Amino acid sequence: MQWCLSPPVPNPQMAAPRVAVVGAGLIGLSTALRIAEVNPNCCSITLLSEQFSPNTTSDVAAGMLIPHTYPGTPIHVQKQWFKETFTYLFAISNSDEASEAGIHLVSGWQIFKNPSEAEVPFWSDIVLGFRPMSAAELQKFPQHSHGQAFTTLKCDCPPYLLWLEKRLKASGVQIHTRKVTDLWELHSEYDIVVNCAGIGARQLVGDQQLFPIRGQVLKVHAPWVKNFIRDGDGLTYIYPGIDSVTLGGTREKESWRLSPDPGTTKDIFDRCCSLEPSLQRARDIRVKVGLRPSRSSVRLQREVLSQGGAKLLVVHNYGHGSGGFSVHRGTAEEAAHLVGECIAALQGSSSRAKL
Ligand code: FAD
Repeated sequence: MQWCLSPPVPNPQMAAPRVAVVGAGLIGLSTALRIAEVNPNCCSITLLSEQFSPNTTSDVAAGMLIPHTYPGTPIHVQKQWFKETFTYLFAISNSDEASEAGIHLVSGWQIFKNPSEAEVPFWSDIVLGFRPMSAAELQKFPQHSHGQAFTTLKCDCPPYLLWLEKRLKASGVQIHTRKVTDLWELHSEYDIVVNCAGIGARQLVGDQQLFPIRGQVLKVHAPWVKNFIRDGDGLTYIYPGIDSVTLGGTREKESWRLSPDPGTTKDIFDRCCSLEPSLQRARDIRVKVGLRPSRSSVRLQREVLSQGGAKLLVVHNYGHGSGGFSVHRGTAEEAAHLVGECIAALQGSSSRAKL
């Protein structure tokens, strides 16, 4: 999203607003970084989180830039979020930061058994070289009749999360381990709170529209697998990263179970081997489970909490479900803009109070 408002100008009459970002998954880290970039010298920023990498949902994800669709958000907004994220990560992938940040291009195929599934997606002109698969390529997949080939980006985690954390520290952001039980508990220490608690927001702010979609994946050593393969709606996938290949997956709505299920592990492995038989030789199989923080739309909005005349400005940025990696930079941009509005509002009320 491009904003016509300029960043807030520091007001010499008031102390710099104190901003707390809650959550150190992909969304909290990228949002805190964007706030620091957009509002330099306008505020102090502290990141508070119960867990950090490698213990977040974001560490479990495959990190592929293939958007998931949010039914409650207009497609043009989702497309803009994806475009901003792709452009940002593409620049990193072309820089000398690429290896440390764990960002790389990956080419492959999305394959379908039924031609009606093979619609051109809204993001086809943002990924690189999107085209129908050739007959020769389809020979690799005798069970599938149609497919799309393209090149996209992948974020390897933990490296990408650690790279974001390093950039935050370099920008002067304070980082503390802390579980927040109620946003209001922060009102005496901070002026603005940014809620990036992922599935934790269900308890933190009592959002009943937020629910988990449990995902189990395998991370395996199979360095000869270089191309991604995504079957149909993406329930079965093979996503090669720099150090491991992610095999997926599952989507279990409303399941909060974080322990791996051995039967599911076998099922995922068999499904992936039927697409890429060479995976039978994969080694060092690790099983991971994560709870996708799901909603019909990402909650990206301002809220004012008040008690007994005291106020706390809040910006929410959570509920990225199955597609957080694909849109995180775009939603961080929008959240940073909302924080800029809060800073401007605080400066306005401080100037009025002085009159
Ligand atoms: P999290 O990573 O869960 O971070 C939340 C943070 O908030 C944590 O640090 C937590 O400790 C903290 N927190 C929570 N409550 C509190 C509290 N009360 N006080 C203090 N701190 C708190 N997306 C893609 O785009 N591409 C993919 O290929 C992809 N693959 C996936 C595969 C799987 C198996 C899964 C599970 C997800 C996948 N996703 C993918 C989705 C993506 O992982 C999520 O959208 C994203 O990680 C959400 O990030 P988050 O920062 O909101 O949540």
